[in-house]
Amino acid sequence: MNQAADSTPLQPGAAVGTTIRALRFDGATARLEPNHVLPEPAPGEAVIRTTKAAVSATDLEVCKGLFAFTGTLGHEFVGVVESMNDDTQRELMGKRVVGSIDAVCGECDMCHGGLSGHCRQRTVLGLQGRDGCLADSFLLPVNNLAAVPDSVDDDHAVFAHSLAAAIQAARQLTIEGRPYITVLGDGPLGLLTVQVMAKLNASVRLVGRYSEKLALCEKWGVKHRHIDDIGRRADQDIVVDCTGSPTGLELATQLVRPRGTILVKTLLSTQADAISAANLSPVVVNELTVLGSRFGPVAQAISMLAQGEVDVVSLISKRMSLADGPALLTAASQPGVLKVLVDP
Ligand SMILES: [Zn+2]
Repeated sequence: MNQAADSTPLQPGAAVGTTIRALRFDGATARLEPNHVLPEPAPGEAVIRTTKAAVSATDLEVCKGLFAFTGTLGHEFVGVVESMNDDTQRELMGKRVVGSIDAVCGECDMCHGGLSGHCRQRTVLGLQGRDGCLADSFLLPVNNLAAVPDSVDDDHAVFAHSLAAAIQAARQLTIEGRPYITVLGDGPLGLLTVQVMAKLNASVRLVGRYSEKLALCEKWGVKHRHIDDIGRRADQDIVVDCTGSPTGLELATQLVRPRGTILVKTLLSTQADAISAANLSPVVVNELTVLGSRFGPVAQAISMLAQGEVDVVSLISKRMSLADGPALLTAASQPGVLKVLVDP
């Protein structure tokens, strides 16, 4: 197994140079390429065989032009480390893993400042300059990976990325004096975020549109209201926009109190238009704080899943196969559908 790092850095049996199936987006259409060549892993990278993936709302926005991305789609995964071009973390070989999707340089001012998630040279799995996980195999830096304990099966672990984004939202808030928090949006991210925020010392409710999703909140003991039944009284201390809708931010400005906080999780290909279209004068007049919130700590998400602290299985709407190709995206875009899981 030991090899001279310069000449033959790969583990024997590495799935490199082989062809894989990959759901690729060319800037206009998505299609399943049956014989995509997996590039060799760069130093520090691992080859990961996808064992389960999920389609997210962000993937759908990518296909509408978000980030001007082209390449293999997908960033929510569980996989097994097949090989690695790295000698520092051999213990991950053959292990089931999830991972942070930002591949960072470690050298820029953001990385040196402890903000590597904002690395100026970063590539992002399936979103920016790096092929994604809706494929038989894909590449990520070994440093990004977190082992998944046996007690967390693939159906749970595949939610690590979404749950981490919800955890990040909670971490960005300052909680003082049991505030009123409204989470807007009953998609997967809203339903995960409200479960995480319900553990804070706060009065938390979800505002959504679909009765079957509000019924999940009922099951979890989380307060919930239909969007048509809420007053817009500017009385919430914190409003979290998980709507995935261009109108979410404007609604948030109507619900939040003066000097309150809006935390924005919605990421749209039309974000610039949405922000300019929103009436932002309440941000000035009511002296609001507006926070953007992106990805989060996947290892902490795995820990929460291992503890059974959140229900993710109720968010699985459909199970499909990688062979379904672009139909995965169509299925995920249907109204009322939560998560579409993908078996390779
Ligand atoms: Zn950097």
